[in-house]
Amino acid sequence: MSMYTGHVIGIDIGGTHFRIGAVGVDGTVQKADVIPSSFIGSAARPLEAIADAVKAYVRKTGIANSLCVSVGLPATVDRQRKMVYSVPNIIGPDSRHVLDNLNIVDGLEQYLDIPVLLNKDVNNLLAYDMFMQDLYDKEIVVACYIGTGFGGAIYIYGQFLMGKHGVANEIGHIPYYKGKEFCTCGKRACTECYASGRALKQLQEKYFPETFIGDVFLKHGAEAPLLEFVEACALPIATQANIMDPDYIIIGGGVVDMPGFPKEELLRQVKAHTRHPLPADDLTLIFSEQRRNMGVVGAAIYALTERGIQTSESFARELKLNIDKQET
Ligand SMILES: [Zn+2]
Repeated sequence: MSMYTGHVIGIDIGGTHFRIGAVGVDGTVQKADVIPSSFIGSAARPLEAIADAVKAYVRKTGIANSLCVSVGLPATVDRQRKMVYSVPNIIGPDSRHVLDNLNIVDGLEQYLDIPVLLNKDVNNLLAYDMFMQDLYDKEIVVACYIGTGFGGAIYIYGQFLMGKHGVANEIGHIPYYKGKEFCTCGKRACTECYASGRALKQLQEKYFPETFIGDVFLKHGAEAPLLEFVEACALPIATQANIMDPDYIIIGGGVVDMPGFPKEELLRQVKAHTRHPLPADDLTLIFSEQRRNMGVVGAAIYALTERGIQTSESFARELKLNIDKQET
């Protein structure tokens, strides 16, 4: 038997799906489970319900020797990475934000007898992307993920950028000059009002009501409303380039992954809005290899590096080979 035993349970909680899986320290993976995340909002005690889902997964898969549980949430998380401030996508009865201001780590550890780690979901996505693209040795890596909202993460000088309160880089909420739309965060003129899956849905309903949202770039990608949308998506990415002068910019998320999304036009717009001659002339922009369970694997990778858990020498190679087994 290998001296490298044990695994990390990774959890990715989104507004729609709750995904749970496990990564072994030898690079093996357990098939991930996906269930509707609505069970959290409808539970009398949301954290107990999440803990029960962990126990059910452990029972079902028969995995032994769990080292820790690593949770990613679409939330602002405190600097100690224990408490969440605001999680607008996990709602209960009366649209109440059931996880807001909860200490997720201490709360879950009451029900589970192993350590719990908490992180912003986009940081886990960046952990995944840096692992897959071998970028952990770079000085500055920034990522922009355009999904339902617009999320970003920054890895700088060997760590994820946190900020005074832990809520640095809320790039989805930087202001657009003279913007009149209101954001789900309550503020006016946020990036997400113009550059997000939510904004794209509004454009489709207004300009292309006959077109299925999934086909909107295939059928109308060259028309003005969508070209403006792509420019709106490019602005925060160019902003990151101008502020950070990063080694790499990773671009991902469900919107970018849609059929017909004009990646070349996005890159052209990013470059056009970046300072010349540098960093514009030497930008390294790469697209994330989207996987449904990248948040689960990313949560596990984050926990392994954060806790300094020793992995087998063949860990990286094995995990890259096994990663597709996570897909459900
Ligand atoms: Zn906002």
